[in-house]
Amino acid sequence: MLQQITPRSFFLPNDHETDRPCLGYVRGDRYALMIDAGNSPAHHRLFLDELAAAGLPAPSAIAITHSHWDHTYAMCAAACPTIVNHKTQAHLEQMSRWAWNLPAMEERLRTGEDIRFCHDCIVKEYPDLSAIRVVPGTVVYHHRLTLDLGGIHAELIHLENSHADDCSIVYIPEEKLVFLGDITCDDLHHKPRCIHQSRYDSLRRVLTELDFTRTVEGHYEQVCTKAEIFASMEEIIAETEAILP
Ligand SMILES: [Zn+2]
Repeated sequence: MLQQITPRSFFLPNDHETDRPCLGYVRGDRYALMIDAGNSPAHHRLFLDELAAAGLPAPSAIAITHSHWDHTYAMCAAACPTIVNHKTQAHLEQMSRWAWNLPAMEERLRTGEDIRFCHDCIVKEYPDLSAIRVVPGTVVYHHRLTLDLGGIHAELIHLENSHADDCSIVYIPEEKLVFLGDITCDDLHHKPRCIHQSRYDSLRRVLTELDFTRTVEGHYEQVCTKAEIFASMEEIIAETEAILP
């Protein structure tokens, strides 16, 4: 169910069953922004239904935090523009050429283009694999983009990090709120899973300086405080399989 964070911001909690991430929403006086599209048209529809039930307007645009399937494969169902950074766009363009059947997916596991965890969740989320459509974004930015939603702003900021080379955060300065996507996670696609120390340190420096009190992390059920997100980053470092320079 949709959860309210502040008078203007909301999120739909994640669902571990098929690795559906949290989906965010910020309502301005003129425009409403959704954060991440969802892992399938069904996930996207669930979010729109929750908005309607809460009496909230459909999003005017969707900010994408990074290209991983669970955040983007619903983009084909979006009725509004989707906004991505240039690296996310490159990844989406590449994935839009992928074939969706079990032999092609198994081949991508063999080549390391995909990982078993995502593969298994995709198979569970999509009873008909041939229905998967990966599409690129509508609006592409480099490094940073500020959206004036009317009385409230959203800053999309592409940051160095350890999870994926295209991760952006969505910062809502008036609410002191950050939608993190998966940016604080380790690198699941590296074998073994790892933290890239210098990139992780860079992210920690930026987040330390950013003025926020609350965060929505892509796969946490609860809104976290700034202190809690730094504590969880310490746990991730302690638990990761490898630390690379
Ligand atoms: Zn991810």
